[in-house]
Amino acid sequence: MQCDGLVAVVTGGGSGIGLACVRAFLAAGARVGVLDLELSGLPDDPRVHGVRADVADRSTLAAAVAAVAERFGGIDILVNNAGISAVGAVQENDDEQWTRVLDVNVVGVARTTAVALPYLRRSSAAAIVNVSSIAATVGLPRRALYSASKGAVHALTLAMAADLVADGIRVNCVAPGTVDTPWVARLLSAAPDPEAEKRQLAARQPTGRLVSADEVAAAVVYLASAGDGSVTGSSLAVDGGMSGL
Ligand code: NAD
Repeated sequence: MQCDGLVAVVTGGGSGIGLACVRAFLAAGARVGVLDLELSGLPDDPRVHGVRADVADRSTLAAAVAAVAERFGGIDILVNNAGISAVGAVQENDDEQWTRVLDVNVVGVARTTAVALPYLRRSSAAAIVNVSSIAATVGLPRRALYSASKGAVHALTLAMAADLVADGIRVNCVAPGTVDTPWVARLLSAAPDPEAEKRQLAARQPTGRLVSADEVAAAVVYLASAGDGSVTGSSLAVDGGMSGL
C-alpha cells in the first residue's frame, strides 16, 4: 500500500475533507493523528488517535502533535487542512474577522508546520500537504478575506517547499473547487433557496457537480505518498475543471 507504516497528522480531520483524508490514509495503510476542535465523528479504529487542538493556539497544538508522535512513534505526513470560512466583499469583514480567519487559515498552517517539523525531519518519507482552494486563483464574488487567506496558503506552500527541500521534505497543496462537505451544507442552509444555490454552485464547475471530499482526499494521499519523488512546490486542482477549462 502507498502509505504502509507511515503516520499522518490531519488538522481539521473531524469533518468534511479532513475526515475523508483520515479514511483515505487508513485505506492506504497509514496510522492517523487527528487534531481538531471537535472529534466526535472520528472512526472507532485503533489506528486513529484524535487529540483536541486549536491550530490558533500553539501550546495545545504542540501538546497534541507530541501526543500523536508518542502514540505512533513519529510523524511522516502533515496535512494542514483546518480552515474556517468568511463571506463578504472586501468592505464587509471587520478587523476582528480578518485577524481571526488569517490566524486560523494562514498562521495555523505555519504554526502547525513549525510544531511538527522536528518530527518530520526524522522521517525518511516526509511530506506536507496544505489544503488551499480555488479561491486562491479564481476571483469569486464576496470571498475577499477567504480568498486572501487561501492565496497566502499557496504562497506559503512554495516558500515552505523551498525551505524544506534540503531536508527531503516535500510540500504541496491541493486546490479544491466547491466540495460537498458540512461546511458547504452550512453555507447553503443560510441561502434563501438552498437547492437553487446548490445547483448554481454545481453549474460553476464544468463537470456540473460538486467535488466529493473523497476526490480531494485521494489527491492529498497521492501528494503525501510519492516517497522521495520530485513532486514538490506544486498545486493540484481538484475543481471539476473550474480553474483550467
Ligand atoms: P468542515 O467545516 O467540514 O471541516 C473543517 C474542520 O476543521 C472541522 O472539523 C473543524 O472543527 C476544524 N477546525 C476549524 N477550525 C479549527 C481550528 N482552529 N483548529 C482545529 N480544527 C479546526 O470544512 P471542509 O469543507 O472539510 O474544509 C476543510 C478545508 O478545505 C478548509 O481549509 C477549507 O478552506 C478547504 N476547502 C473547502 C472547500 C469546500 O468547498 N468545502 C473548498 C476548497 C477548500
